[in-house]
Amino acid sequence: MDNCIFCQIVAGDIPSRTVYEDDDVLAFLDVNPLAPGHTLVIPKDHHETLTELPEDEGDAVFSALHRLAPAVEVAVDAPASTVAFNNGEAAGQEVPHVHGHIVPRFDDDGGRPIHALVSDQPELHDDELDDIAAAIAEER
Ligand code: 5GP
Ligand code: ZN
Repeated sequence: MDNCIFCQIVAGDIPSRTVYEDDDVLAFLDVNPLAPGHTLVIPKDHHETLTELPEDEGDAVFSALHRLAPAVEVAVDAPASTVAFNNGEAAGQEVPHVHGHIVPRFDDDGGRPIHALVSDQPELHDDELDDIAAAIAEER
């Protein structure tokens, strides 16, 4: 995609600090890091969200995340990391090319866990939870 920033990084038209590359995946430092070592892992082919991402490319992205998260932690001496996708515009995705974030975390970094994502947590009753679980199982 000509107008996609991350496709331009894959093509080498925009420079990036690459930390890993294979046939399917590129990983590079985020230009506006939330922590030292904040790394993005992307499929080289353009897909907007995880919904569009073919399974084999998803496997390649996860495999790279799996290898890189510990490498990032060691490199910046972080005891932990948050690994996450903003999957779609409503979830805060700004660059419409699938990317996983590896954000190194430190004991006193002031960051929050994934449970702090929403301010209005729904109260769901058992029957609603049963319906939701069944609907997901049906769709997958
Ligand atoms: P999103 O909000 O879409 O999940 O995150 C997009 C991320 O891409 C942001 O953290 C932002 O700093 C990063 N980003 C945007 N443009 C560039 C760029 O040109 N180069 C690099 N290395 N990162 C970028
Ligand atoms: Zn793209």
